[in-house]
Amino acid sequence: MTNLTVPISACDFPQAAGQLKEAKAAGAEAVELRTDYIEALNVEQAEKIVSEAQKTHLPIIVTCRDKKEGGAIDYPIQLRLDVLKNAIAANVDFVDFEYENFRVKKNQDAILSALSKSKTRLILSKHNFAGKLDNLDKLYKDIKKAFPSAIPKLVYTVNHTNDCFEAFDLLHTYPPPGGPGRNSKEDSIVLCMGEAGLISRIIAKKLGGLITYASLNEKSATAAGQITLEQMKKLYRWDKIDADTELYGIIGSPVAHSLSPLIHNSSFEKMGLNKLYLPLLVDGGSKEFNQFMENILKRDWLNFKGFSITIPHKENALKFVKDKGGFVEPLADKIGAANTILIDESRVTSDERRLSAYNTDYAGALDAITTGMGITRTGLKGMPVAVIGAGGVARAIVAGLRDCEAKIAIYNRTVKRAEALAKEFDCDFAGLEELKDLNAKLVINCTSIGMHPKINETPIAKGILQKAQRHKGTEGIVVFDTVYNPVETLLLKQAKEIGAKTISGLDMFIFQAAEQFKLFTGKDANPDLMRKIISDFL
Ligand code: NAP
Repeated sequence: MTNLTVPISACDFPQAAGQLKEAKAAGAEAVELRTDYIEALNVEQAEKIVSEAQKTHLPIIVTCRDKKEGGAIDYPIQLRLDVLKNAIAANVDFVDFEYENFRVKKNQDAILSALSKSKTRLILSKHNFAGKLDNLDKLYKDIKKAFPSAIPKLVYTVNHTNDCFEAFDLLHTYPPPGGPGRNSKEDSIVLCMGEAGLISRIIAKKLGGLITYASLNEKSATAAGQITLEQMKKLYRWDKIDADTELYGIIGSPVAHSLSPLIHNSSFEKMGLNKLYLPLLVDGGSKEFNQFMENILKRDWLNFKGFSITIPHKENALKFVKDKGGFVEPLADKIGAANTILIDESRVTSDERRLSAYNTDYAGALDAITTGMGITRTGLKGMPVAVIGAGGVARAIVAGLRDCEAKIAIYNRTVKRAEALAKEFDCDFAGLEELKDLNAKLVINCTSIGMHPKINETPIAKGILQKAQRHKGTEGIVVFDTVYNPVETLLLKQAKEIGAKTISGLDMFIFQAAEQFKLFTGKDANPDLMRKIISDFL
């Protein structure tokens, strides 16, 4: 059992009592009393807080962290020992003491003597806020050797998601009682700090770590990368995670504000699927991406089944799957980028063939266009379309539209890029200044112009839209902006004002997510539900 634990990081008793009440009400499964946060701490005060915490009937961890290992206030060792000894005498469930300090005989004697008369279990912890912990496995064994019934707690900072895998390996090698390996009786806590370490906090439950921490709110987090109890429970489906949960995630950099975890986890929840979708921050280029994928493929027991891929790894994803001899969807190959990877166990004949790569951006865009215009894909045949931009999204959309035999003109700031794309897909091209003679039924913005924070910018002046609208007479033009942050960009606002039909980037985002969901689960997604989830969130 993994306890979703809220650290109580109060500066005095009334604040601690308030936080305890809040933690209980919010569904915390345990509380950690960080007495090192209490100002002018004394033993009586700590006792009072322990007895207040006992009223919650939640498992209690008491610690008075050494400043050297992240403690808030630098209290003398004797006071810290006294606080722990009293907590042990009060039979709290756990006390957490630094392994380095436990190695000092005098400290060890004091703790062991108190433990001999109590049911309290001892957590021996080691933290590194600056980087990795060297030789994790040896450290784990050293702690067990120093005190065999101790619960080792190893917490370190990762600069890259690839540094988390050692932590996962340790939990996998020393599983908890009845845990995945089922041949050991060892409880342990192994967590990674920093944004890239976030996943270790969530999948601690899948891997059987004894404790993971979540804060009451963003301000009260006691370590980097700690998310809130609400995020853990609502966004990351805490109550549903077990050893068999299948993992998915979005690989990219940045990923912190991606809407994909919300959209996929909510859909998994609605459909009652034992799946969890994670933000996977993979900084760097193809080297780091490849390392990440190799790390995943080496560890079948993590049960990763699929990924969404975003900036800057779409090309890397395609190349990785190709190099591994996996299946690549022909249009993804033509686009030169993949935004979805599947790891399919049922097709395993060799390690290499487990992978397949797809691009749902073009399908998402085509679905948004056809739904928005009330036509089928065949309705796009011969339609004059102006695509503004020649980057990754433009490429996916041009490939999709050409497949439907639309008549495309590509406009881009860097004309050479427009020319190269146009040559590849047999389209016309021009610089942005040529937009003044715009003559298209469908206008698509594939640039980042108008995206937050530059929300007062637009790729086409309103007057040009107006002229094009007049030119098309009663049928009018349709304006599609792939930017979805904000949902109503200045371009869409002005298009509405001149009476044009509009399609938002959010529609494309939802349709591409729906295609991805189908690839992940084999089941049809509910785009209306996805739209409601995002609208409610925004
Ligand atoms: P990209 O590969 O970096 O391409 C960016 C494009 O925007 C290039 O054509 C670039 O022109 C142009 N551009 C950027 N700033 C400009 C400026 N100030 N003036 C004129 N042109 C400018 O990016 P991408 O991956 O194609 O993404 C583009 C946008 O698509 C994103 O910002 C995002 O909002 C949107 N998007 C939407 C979805 C969705 O599901 N709705 C999915 C992905 C992306 P140059 O070639 O001259 O540099």
